Amino acid sequence: MECIFCKIARKEIPSKIVYEDELALAFEDINPQAPVHILIIPRKHIHNNLSLTEEDKPLMGHLFLVANRIASEKGIAERGFRTVVNCNAEAGQTVFHLHLHLLGGRPMKWPPG
Ligand code: AMP
Ligand code: ZN
Repeated sequence: MECIFCKIARKEIPSKIVYEDELALAFEDINPQAPVHILIIPRKHIHNNLSLTEEDKPLMGHLFLVANRIASEKGIAERGFRTVVNCNAEAGQTVFHLHLHLLGGRPMKWPPG
C-alpha cells in the first residue's frame, strides 16, 4: 500500500513512536502545532471517517483510549487536550489514512481556524 502512514506502521519510514499495540500506533507529528502533538492511527488502512464501517466501532473506541493514555503520560490529561480527526479537503485532511491528532500543552482556541 503506497500510503505514508501504512509505511510508518510497517516501519518502512522512520517516526518517533510513542505507543504501539496490535491495533494501533502513535507517533509524533513531524510538524507539531502544539507542545504535544501526537498522531494515533489504526494499523488497518482506513481512508477517512467516511470509510468507517460497523466493524470499525471498537477500533475507533480503542484509538480514543490510546489518546487518553498518552495524554496522561504526557501530563496534559488534567490540564486539557484536544483530539481532532480531519475529514476531506475543507477540514484540512492531507494524509488519507485516518488519524487522531492529540494536541495539548498550550491553551487551545475555539472555534478552531
Ligand atoms: P491531516 O492534515 O489531518 O491529514 O494531518 C496530517 C498530519 O500528518 C500533519 O499534521 C502532518 O504534519 C503529519 N505528517 C505528515 N507526514 C508525516 C510523517 N512522515 N511523520 C509524522 N507526521 C507526519
Ligand atoms: Zn494507510
